[in-house]
Amino acid sequence: MARTAIAIKQSAWECKWSRPGFRFAGVEERIQPETLWVCVRTGERRRLSETACDQCPHWEADRFRKN
Ligand code: SF4
Repeated sequence: MARTAIAIKQSAWECKWSRPGFRFAGVEERIQPETLWVCVRTGERRRLSETACDQCPHWEADRFRKN
């Protein structure tokens, strides 16, 4: 019997715990106040790397966010 594996990518912007980071226009990435997305799950705004959410066990789909 054939098997099919489906990989579902967990993206920061689709998680209910993510928020857009505070950013300044025209400022270099290394001195931006926050990353593009931050995680607020623990009650603090935590910076997120590009891959931080890929394997996160706390990822939850944001039911209200429109794509
Ligand atoms: S780190 Fe986990 S809980 Fe936080 S935004 Fe990413 S997937 Fe969601």
